[in-house]
Amino acid sequence: MATFQLQPAHDATTERLYRAAVVHAFKAPLSLDDVRAPELAAGQVRVRVEASGLCHTDIHAAHGDWPVKPSPPFIPGHEGVGIVTELGPGVTEVAVGDRVAMPWLGYACGTCDHCVSGWETLCLEQKNMGYSIDGGFGEEAVAYARYVVKVPEGLDPFDAAPLTCAGVTTYKAVKVAGTRSSNLVAVFGVGGLGHLAIQYAAIAGGRVIAVDVLDEKLDLALELGAEFTVNAAKEDPVEAIQRLGGADQAIALAVSPKAFEQAYGSLRRGGTLVFVALPADNEVKVPIFETVLNGITIVGSIVGTRADLREVFELHAAGRTHVTREIRPLAEVNQAIADVEGGRVAARIVFEP
Ligand code: NAD
Ligand code: ZN
Ligand code: ZN
Repeated sequence: MATFQLQPAHDATTERLYRAAVVHAFKAPLSLDDVRAPELAAGQVRVRVEASGLCHTDIHAAHGDWPVKPSPPFIPGHEGVGIVTELGPGVTEVAVGDRVAMPWLGYACGTCDHCVSGWETLCLEQKNMGYSIDGGFGEEAVAYARYVVKVPEGLDPFDAAPLTCAGVTTYKAVKVAGTRSSNLVAVFGVGGLGHLAIQYAAIAGGRVIAVDVLDEKLDLALELGAEFTVNAAKEDPVEAIQRLGGADQAIALAVSPKAFEQAYGSLRRGGTLVFVALPADNEVKVPIFETVLNGITIVGSIVGTRADLREVFELHAAGRTHVTREIRPLAEVNQAIADVEGGRVAARIVFEP
């Protein structure tokens, strides 16, 4: 079931050191280390990191939560944004001085059926920033020039960082859901991903119902364009959404299989459930009979392509989206992880290295 392959993170290194947050063992605190900067291979660029978002995926990576695990030591981070400082052999796609984003899809082969048909995110040869190759939780990072995405002039790097995963992933999930004007869209989980999902669903013309277990998250959801909210800790979201006629699409962004099952139950006939979150507990229970009789679609959605990320940046540059984020020093990475897990973060933490 491997959808990504693990590759050695380091080959040849230079004498130069840079500071990064490193996972040495699953479930142990990260440590702030001085690591050796690798030599650039063909097609790679070096980036001085300005901003790096903390995605819940980084927490899953540091815990070794998933069936395919990264190999410690590794540097997490797949919402890194910064300035290109050096080009490896043969790089023509970007120039020194460009501001780029370094997303989860750090590398793909470019020639397989998935890559040539606009589904590079399904490439079996892919390498993932902050997982199978070192990521953005450092003063610098190395990335593949073809898979970085230029950040438009004038876009704040601290906004660009959350857009690089939370943005592109939920933008794509709304595309995959097929949301059209007047659809009712249930967004389960108003975290880093969910606060942007609400906005993309509304841009697509959907009427949004946001579900979370914390009232502060639901207040934010209303500010960002949700029309209805349900606190699933106080009220059954299935009943509440069915009272509104049922959701045409439900997007599962909460790190909880129970939320997936509620998202399923909230659908109207013909509805679509999009799986996005990746809880460690890797199973949900859905009924066969009702899925068939009600014509339900269940679809998985993994991040988005470079083209999707360009669209996400364009929408933000045009003032159509708002990124809710708080800036913290990278040295506070362990506290930041504890705060995300404890529900003490409005939406996204972005590190300053
Ligand atoms: P987050 O921690 O910022 O947000 C999760 C939200 O879910 C929080 O607001 C939390 O209060 C809420 N929640 C928890 N339990 C709930 C429940 N039972 N019902 C409703 N809401 C509940 O996490 P995030 O960074 O937004 O990431 C969410 C998930 O998406 C993670 O599992 C992450 O790994 C995954 N992810 C998937 C992709 C992909 O491409 N498929 C990309 C990025 C992240
Ligand atoms: Zn992510
Ligand atoms: Zn490929």
